[in-house]
Amino acid sequence: MIRKLFVTTALPYANGPFHIGHIMEYIQADTWVRLQRMLGHEVHFVCADDTHGAPIMIAAEKAGLSPQDFVAGIAAGRKPYLDGFHIAFDHWHSTDAPENHALAKSIYLALKADDLIESRSVEQFFDPDKGMFLPDRFVKGECPNCGAKDQYGDNCEVCGAVYQPTELKNPYSALSGATPVLRTSEHFFFKLSDPRCVEFLESWTQDGRLQPEVANKVSEWFKRDEAGKVGLGDWDISREAPYFGIEIPDAPGKYFYVWLDAPVGYLASLQARLAALGIDFEAYLAQPDLEQVHFIGKDIVTFHTLFWPAMLKFSGRKVPDRVYVHGFLTVNNGDKMSKSRGTGISPLRYLELGFDAEWLRYYIAAKLNARVEDLDFNPEDFVARVNSDLVGKYVNIASRAAGFLNKRFSGRLSADVGVEGRMLLDTLRGASDTVRDLLDSREFGKALRETMLLADRVNEYVDRHKPWDLAKQPGMDTALHDVCTVCIEAFRVLTVYLKPVLPALATKVEAFLRIEPLRWADAQRSIGAHTIGEYKHLMQRVDPARLQALFEPPAESAATPPPAALPGGEGVAPEIGIDDFSKVDLRIARIVAAEAVEGSSKLLRLTLDVGEGRTRNVFSGIAANYKPEQLAGKLTVMVANLAPRKMKFGLSEGMVLAASHADEKAEPGVYVLEPFAGAKPGMRVR
Ligand SMILES: [Zn+2]
Repeated sequence: MIRKLFVTTALPYANGPFHIGHIMEYIQADTWVRLQRMLGHEVHFVCADDTHGAPIMIAAEKAGLSPQDFVAGIAAGRKPYLDGFHIAFDHWHSTDAPENHALAKSIYLALKADDLIESRSVEQFFDPDKGMFLPDRFVKGECPNCGAKDQYGDNCEVCGAVYQPTELKNPYSALSGATPVLRTSEHFFFKLSDPRCVEFLESWTQDGRLQPEVANKVSEWFKRDEAGKVGLGDWDISREAPYFGIEIPDAPGKYFYVWLDAPVGYLASLQARLAALGIDFEAYLAQPDLEQVHFIGKDIVTFHTLFWPAMLKFSGRKVPDRVYVHGFLTVNNGDKMSKSRGTGISPLRYLELGFDAEWLRYYIAAKLNARVEDLDFNPEDFVARVNSDLVGKYVNIASRAAGFLNKRFSGRLSADVGVEGRMLLDTLRGASDTVRDLLDSREFGKALRETMLLADRVNEYVDRHKPWDLAKQPGMDTALHDVCTVCIEAFRVLTVYLKPVLPALATKVEAFLRIEPLRWADAQRSIGAHTIGEYKHLMQRVDPARLQALFEPPAESAATPPPAALPGGEGVAPEIGIDDFSKVDLRIARIVAAEAVEGSSKLLRLTLDVGEGRTRNVFSGIAANYKPEQLAGKLTVMVANLAPRKMKFGLSEGMVLAASHADEKAEPGVYVLEPFAGAKPGMRVR
């Protein structure tokens, strides 16, 4: 029977690049999805950027960008990580996309029509300078419990007390420093305490679809007090303008709280994916045998096991079939004090250092199970598992046999391998269902352990028959041929079992063996007297000495000592190649016009001609050093391929080059570059 699967990971918040926790979750989900595909099941595997909410609105403002441009910049940086770690989402979307606006509104309106939305007055801190209500994290003050200064509005980092922002002493806005005032506004609530919701959720969470520890934790919400009231309360789903989000229908100036529209993004991404394939979205979701599966971290269980299924159920939609919850990735037993080694692993740095993505995929898979347990990244363990197990036990099987086959038998496998070889291969093939079921139930560690035990059996067989000895003995050609054939055939079967975890390595193996992409069923059949290709190196070992670089913060990681400051006040930046330099397109530009910018003492507005048949508008922070009339008509150098930047005063389409000291207080002055005579607008500087 072919399963139909709609699979997601949690949507990453678009306020920064991926961290290692995202990558771990994607590796888990991607491995599971790859298994389903090898089994012939139909999968749509999608994700999206979670783009809304106050933190992104505030971060964008700080960066001088519109929230839309800010999240577009984050989205543009996602691909290298996903490709680098072989994460094969079918589609990557955004919760700010039109599909998500439409879906979130339609779900809300359906809940409202079902009498599950209620409006109530809420008293909240308001920043009079910024003209906005303050999220809890943006109110600071003295802890009401221990008096510690500069604590956030939700809890104290000194004594651990948890409180309401209104309980802080001497509160102030973290955005403007102003003293916030209490204001009342109308909020909308999703009535989760409605008996219909309670009844549905109690049954949905306790019917065996969730992991036992998750079901158990969630059951707390359904405990009745003496009056028969459950702990599950109503959910505040609205926020006041200004807010970057989806405006609530018929409530101008009010927006959905980001956590309302974020999970809707799963559906929006699926809808966009299906539209591209010409598949009807509602008809697809209406299939009775469709399975909806979400992979998430343990920190967002409440949203996915209470709010999300209730939103779907009472808007008349399909509810999730499974929510697979994982723990966190810690480093060195979560030892946050280990300054010497560092406690974080930057996924992009991992790739930049040239580390093989599949070492990490293998290591993470080897430590994952179906429970909600934290997973510790331990460097010694990482080296041991990759070098001893993955390379030592598995990759080596092929390298030990391929040379003899190619040199002595033109790469051709023997048609029959004798009783002992057949028995060994039967053992390997016989594990197919066990390994499949372990992977399907997310017991990846057990699946890899099982596979490595099989690899041990193969290596024992090789050690017993010693092909290197057989090769030297006259008349032992058939024996040598059989042993090497068994090795290659065993290696192919093991590759089937490892392929969901190691897709790129499997592709190399398929090329080496000259076979079609391996499917799960290929473990069961023999390839007979097939001719294989030339063996090429499949995987390096980890160099333990290089591992240290993974843990150091990027700024301190250079092998050379920090450069001494030059007279300009700063050291020379880390070395780059010519490829890096050539990415920067520098052009000669004529300053057609220069003018002061009203409302800014720093900026001049420059109109530049770079020979494109149009002019460009560029803002430059040189007003303190140049009067507009000093610049008009002169030539200078600009970065012509810098992404346009929306500023308060308009769009800036590039950047003019100028020299300055690192510390402008120590040595004031900004000096715009001017080329020698003869240069013309549009010429490239290289
Ligand atoms: Zn305190």
